[in-house]
Amino acid sequence: MTDAKPLILIIEDEAPIRRFLRASLPMHGYRFVEAVTAAEGLHLAAAQQPELVILDLGLPDRDGLELVRELRGWSQVPILVLSARDRETDKVQALDAGADDYLTKPFGMGELLARMRVALRHGARRAAPEAATFACGDLRVDFAARRIFTGDSEVHLTPTEFRLLVVLAHHAGKVVTHRQLLRELGGDEHEDAVRALRVHVSQLRRKLEPDPARPKHLLTEPGVGYRLLEA
Ligand code: CA
Repeated sequence: MTDAKPLILIIEDEAPIRRFLRASLPMHGYRFVEAVTAAEGLHLAAAQQPELVILDLGLPDRDGLELVRELRGWSQVPILVLSARDRETDKVQALDAGADDYLTKPFGMGELLARMRVALRHGARRAAPEAATFACGDLRVDFAARRIFTGDSEVHLTPTEFRLLVVLAHHAGKVVTHRQLLRELGGDEHEDAVRALRVHVSQLRRKLEPDPARPKHLLTEPGVGYRLLEA
């Protein structure tokens, strides 16, 4: 188990992207299997039990979004979606359906590898209990004691700000959509709620970021949601 290379399932109909992944993944210590259609992809996901699925949203036989929903019906495997152009709604729908993260084409290898590492870590962590603390740079969160520090100074958050930070920290490194955040906060998903969320986030940044106008912990993913960076 310790020296087993993670198995990646690529579901993508574009030959140049498959060629690119085929050339790069083995060099970075991954094994992979490929599918060109959704049907083939589902079959391989069940038969090979990959550690991570890289899924193109535009497939010839079925919508990639449907595939995310179907996979989530029986598998917790991390799913990284690839979306063409800047189709925000596709990305958001895929994330809300249970995908872990996304990359917009064209993407670089460095970006892909970083997203893969985060997704694989979260996949491995799903079986384990939640960590009791979160740390990134000078930011430290003690979940059980409900205490937050930046450097040596303690930061005081409202209950909503704390809840927001906890949700983002549990998904650290991954994007969390507006809808996911609002659901976790127990609110609805109206326009007003998204606006209120933005206010909470900016308050959180004022308390946690050295320069709130140029956040280095809590990033905005335009039109999608927020991402709390890991160390
Ligand atoms: Ca495609």
